[in-house]
Amino acid sequence: MTRRKYVVGNWKMNGLTAMLGEAKAIFAAAETHTSVDVALCPPFTLIGAMAAAAPGAAVGGQDCHASASGAFTGSVAARMLADAGARLVIVGHSERREGFGESDADVCAKAEAALAAGLSVILCVGEPRAVRESGGAIAYVLAQIAGSLPGEFDPARLAVAYEPIWAIGTGLVPTVADVADMHGAIRAKLNEQAGAGAASAMRLLYGGSVNGDNAAELLGAGDVDGALVGGASLTAAKFVPIVEAAASL
Ligand code: PEP
Repeated sequence: MTRRKYVVGNWKMNGLTAMLGEAKAIFAAAETHTSVDVALCPPFTLIGAMAAAAPGAAVGGQDCHASASGAFTGSVAARMLADAGARLVIVGHSERREGFGESDADVCAKAEAALAAGLSVILCVGEPRAVRESGGAIAYVLAQIAGSLPGEFDPARLAVAYEPIWAIGTGLVPTVADVADMHGAIRAKLNEQAGAGAASAMRLLYGGSVNGDNAAELLGAGDVDGALVGGASLTAAKFVPIVEAAASL
């Protein structure tokens, strides 16, 4: 099955209204690359404004609560994201898993809530450096998938992002062969857990220090359908070359 390339920017806790111009420039450039789906996930505070500034663009959240509403001070429900104009949400980012103690079960519940609210989901997995060095990276990531993948879902609305924790924001990247091995193992696991149809339709993104110089190589690796990009997604000057690299494949 042919899967469209997918390049997603995660602005993390960066961005004031003054940065909406960057988003508009990114989405304008993305429109010229019709073979690539492009999305930006700004902080909660910018979702509505970004969706309004770039009508039709895919704007997303970086997290959601698993409940639809209630006494969860400071949290945002999936349907609130949708109401604000979001079309997608990232769940299980390592900065949430590590910094906020989110378990695989928490991530699964968030993914299910997001899908129920009509959002698409990017479900993140990835190993710490010590696990990579001990040779256990694939087993670690497949266990995360076993615990955090929803039971039933539309494969067109759920992408998995493999983001080795040691590569996020560090400038370090795995070898292309290691990325291909991991993505192949993830695809095989999805095949076993969700069935062949779902596994072949789902997009697998690589994330971790992707930039305009390494994007073509990383996105060209086996079973890689796109990228989840942090630091290099904050400006059009850095992000658009990644979209262009995806379009060139
Ligand atoms: C991320 O946080 O999802 C990420 C991949 O960050 P960076 O591109 O900055 O490594």
